[in-house]
Amino acid sequence: MKKEVEIEISARHVHLSEEDYKLLFGSEKFSNLKELSQKNQFVTDKNVTLYGPKGSVSARFLSPFRQISQVELSLTDCIELGIEAPYKISADNQATGIKIVGSTDEIVRNAAIIAKRHLHLNPDDAKELGIQDRDLISVVSKTYRGKIIFEDVVARISDDYQLRVHLDTDEGNAAGIEGKIIGELISKKD
Ligand SMILES: [Zn+2]
Repeated sequence: MKKEVEIEISARHVHLSEEDYKLLFGSEKFSNLKELSQKNQFVTDKNVTLYGPKGSVSARFLSPFRQISQVELSLTDCIELGIEAPYKISADNQATGIKIVGSTDEIVRNAAIIAKRHLHLNPDDAKELGIQDRDLISVVSKTYRGKIIFEDVVARISDDYQLRVHLDTDEGNAAGIEGKIIGELISKKD
């Protein structure tokens, strides 16, 4: 199996529960700044500031609301903040505590992770490619910085997903990916 796939960089961002949003922004409404490739997801005009023991960074709030708040950072962000965050696909009880400051209040949540690189795909893509949810696949990136193969990319299947690989900014910078590029999926069977 070899297939072209768009590789996008998933920059630092936060997902918020509706309850946490209300704490951070009160009754302020948010608006859609930019559609994302995944259905119903968009970048909002709301920023939060994240604080760790060594520093702070700002991050965009991505809609829609989630069941629990999740802060997705790069390793570089963690170094700047002075925190250690686990490398995971989603926040759970192992996520790292972080202070999140909005325009009306601040909260502390065990929400910080470094998001594992992943492949979004819908059930039709998965069938065509012979991929199961949570399979680890490989993606080839070719840019002016040369060819890099990212292994252990976690496949995530959902009806709402569009075929995309998501890397974080550290991975994207290392590979020389600015914005997005077309890469190639390789399965273990090749
Ligand atoms: Zn993603």
